[in-house]
Formats: sequence, C-alpha cells, structure tokens
Amino acid sequence: MRVLWAAVTHPGRRRASNEDSFCARPDIGLFVVADGMGGHVAGEVASRLAVDAMEATIVSGECCADGSRPLSQAEQRLQAAFQQASRSIVSETSQHPRLRGMATTASALLVSADGWAIGHVGDSRVYLWRAGVLQQLTRDHSWVAEQVQLGVLSPEDARQHPWRNVVTRALSASDVPIVDFAPFSPQPGDRLLLSSDGLHGVIPDQVLGEILGSDAPLDSICQRLIDAANAAGGPDNITTLIVHVDAT
Ligand code: CA
Repeated sequence: MRVLWAAVTHPGRRRASNEDSFCARPDIGLFVVADGMGGHVAGEVASRLAVDAMEATIVSGECCADGSRPLSQAEQRLQAAFQQASRSIVSETSQHPRLRGMATTASALLVSADGWAIGHVGDSRVYLWRAGVLQQLTRDHSWVAEQVQLGVLSPEDARQHPWRNVVTRALSASDVPIVDFAPFSPQPGDRLLLSSDGLHGVIPDQVLGEILGSDAPLDSICQRLIDAANAAGGPDNITTLIVHVDAT
C-alpha cells in the first residue's frame, strides 16, 4: 500500500528553541514524533537521539520479541527500535553530566509489507482519521490522562490543568521504558496524524479532525494545524506529521 506524507514542526510562540524531533522515512517505513524534555539543549538532544536510534534500528532489521503477549513482526521491530533509543539516551547521559535528566516521548508508526504497527511512550499521540471520523489510537502516559480515565477531570479540564505537561512514562536514563505497542490495519483513504502536545494539548479534537479531513494538500494541512495551535497561543513546540494511505 502506497503512503503519502507531510510534516511540519514549529517552536510555537513562547519558546526560543524547538525540542521536538521527527523522522519520516517512507523508504524504511518509519515515521516518528518525539518531544524532548530537560531544558537548555538537553531536550533537543534527547528527542534527536531517540529518533536517530530508531531509524538505525529499523534499517538494521533487528527484532525484539519480549512482551506479555505475542507481538507481530512489525511490533517486534518497533520494540527493538524503542529499546535502542532508550539505550542511546542512557549512554549519552552517562557520558555528559550536563544532559542529566533529559527525557523524551516518542510516538512511532511502522509501515511494512508484512503488517503495520504503532508504538508510543509519553504524551505524543497517534490519531486515525477514517471516513470522516477522528479517533485517538494512543493513550497518553500522563498525569492528566490518568485523571480523565478515573473520571476526576474532563478532557477540557485536562487541557487547562497546570500539571498537563507531567508525563508518567518517557524514554530517559532513569527508567526502563514501558512502551505500548499495537498492530494497525490500514484502509485506503486513512490518514494518521502523529503529533506533539503543542498541537493536541492546545486544539480540541473536533477542530483537529476538521482540518485533518480537508481536501487541501497534506503539507498545507500540516501548516494549518500549526497555524491553529499558534493562533491559540502557541505555548509549546508543535509537530504534525501526517501519513495518508493512498487509494491506488
Ligand atoms: Ca511538548
């Protein structure tokens, strides 16, 4: 199945630097958005290290079959990629004390002939737009998402909450990452959106869905999403990556 893609990243209106990183590698089937944390240059380093390690692992063809359930081939390849990303952050942190405390989220889509898979850790998301309906495929590893699940906060409260940026899982030197994996069955016309919280933490899902489903070229849809987040204040770095499943 052929895919088309587009991506745009922007620092937003309040931050001097952009700690988000992404990769779009249709040649190896890998699409990733990572949102780094750690201040100064550390956040940027963490997200870039993770993305680079994931690309290299997918190129190498390495698999990892650890898990509480049997994983598909694509999930095993993604799992190896996340493990390598984690090792890369551990190793770089131990060599450079100024990077101590750096961490990153990562949301990834692997497109391959023998199956597709999604993996994620943290609060970067993967959405599916299918036949006019937007669905969030990943569940945030964040404090506010846990409160929403418990019924303590509404999704709207979560967007405004002072602790909205607190992630409960990430790739870092201090934790063994617990990454969620899921197989994905694409259908012609599907659109997948990988985003950092500078987008979905600012724009309601209904608006996201309206923009994502429009007939415009994919790169202008990405830009409209970025513009919408900036129009809403642009408090954080914003990354949008769209993968469109071609009907032909
Ligand atoms: Ca962020």
